Amino acid sequence: MNAASQKVALRARYVVPVAAPPLQNACVVMRGEQIEAVTATPPADAEIVDLGSVAILPGLVNAHVHLEFSALEERLGEAGMPLPAWIREVLAWRQRVANDPDGAVSTQDALARGLAEAVRHGTTALGEIATVNWRRNGEIGGTGPSRGPLDLPLDVTVFRELIAPTSEPLRIAECMLTAGPHLAEGEVSKTWSAGLSPHAPYSAHPQLCEAVVRLHARSPFPVAIHLAESREELEWLAHGTGPLADLFDELELPSPFAASRRPLEVIEQLGGLSNTLFVHGNYLAPDEMAALAERASTTAVVYCPRTHAYFGHEPYPLVEMLNAGVSVALGTDGRGSNPDLSLLAEMRHVARQHPEVPLARILELGTLAGARALGREAKAGSLTPGKVANLAMIALPEGATDDAYDMLLRADTEVVATLVRGRPVFATDETPLAAWAKSD
Ligand SMILES: [Zn+2]
Repeated sequence: MNAASQKVALRARYVVPVAAPPLQNACVVMRGEQIEAVTATPPADAEIVDLGSVAILPGLVNAHVHLEFSALEERLGEAGMPLPAWIREVLAWRQRVANDPDGAVSTQDALARGLAEAVRHGTTALGEIATVNWRRNGEIGGTGPSRGPLDLPLDVTVFRELIAPTSEPLRIAECMLTAGPHLAEGEVSKTWSAGLSPHAPYSAHPQLCEAVVRLHARSPFPVAIHLAESREELEWLAHGTGPLADLFDELELPSPFAASRRPLEVIEQLGGLSNTLFVHGNYLAPDEMAALAERASTTAVVYCPRTHAYFGHEPYPLVEMLNAGVSVALGTDGRGSNPDLSLLAEMRHVARQHPEVPLARILELGTLAGARALGREAKAGSLTPGKVANLAMIALPEGATDDAYDMLLRADTEVVATLVRGRPVFATDETPLAAWAKSD
């Protein structure tokens, strides 16, 4: 029925294209993997699937996640914990995984669970950080496509995490040795694409970042780095002191303090690449926001709203960033610091915390801006003819308010189906889409 050449018109109470205003009682017309039209009147030659009281949106884009934590029922540590203390919790948790004979299996299980959870929440693109998180008897544990399939067809950008706190050439060379094969694998993969992630300014020495810049000059790839996440990071960058210095001492790592620095230097070093995601940006100064705004077409700050709240950071400067012209995308971060992987829940949190930001803009942050951040804007992020049919469908209460954005972001509505490249990857039994998918 729904062969590649067949046109299918998905009719819904609302179609919310993001790049254009919402349409009431309209259709998304798909042909194969692509969106052919967004229209009030379906073409005569289309098969019509009436979805009833739902809103069709572009698939949500979660620009920052660590899937390794996806099997955790509870977040690590405690609410309000300083970041260096939470990092200790992560290291202890990883040690437990390393000591568990089934550690490798459970890590793969976590990855699969995370992907399944993401599609249940309407996500069709992810920025995932793949970690080498333990080594034992020559065996390496961690997440990454070479250690297990990414068998759900999402658009996953897998950033290989790079950690080399000091300028020791051997450590940097060893780190970069994992980068080449990862990028080459991503190049030929049909299911994921590759990027690199120097972890953070305190764990990725400027010379490691320089090696990433040199590699990027040969053939571009997206880059992600955690930046300005905590006050402790700023203190350590400026003076080499504070709780992060204590953590390095405790881990008996050589002091990696490079020089008196600020996040601005990291923005200047990595902000000139093809696509750079600066994750968190909780404590960026006005001149750093201005530097990001100047580079807005190739950089994005990824705000992780509920993770930000978990750590009890100072209020997030979202309005300041948007007013300055910074590109902002949204991420859930991992289940080590977040209750789930729902980007819809993140957008609702933003709507509550930042009521001055229009709801349409918030929806854009979780879709089109995320796609742009991951370099996928040409194909994803909005319901635009010619883009890929990556869609999220959300049930709307009958007879509720007529403001589509209000129903999506201020109510407790749920994702009932997710399509990737025109095919359902998740659908509740109640949606007519489930029957349509089975009729294939
Ligand atoms: Zn992160």
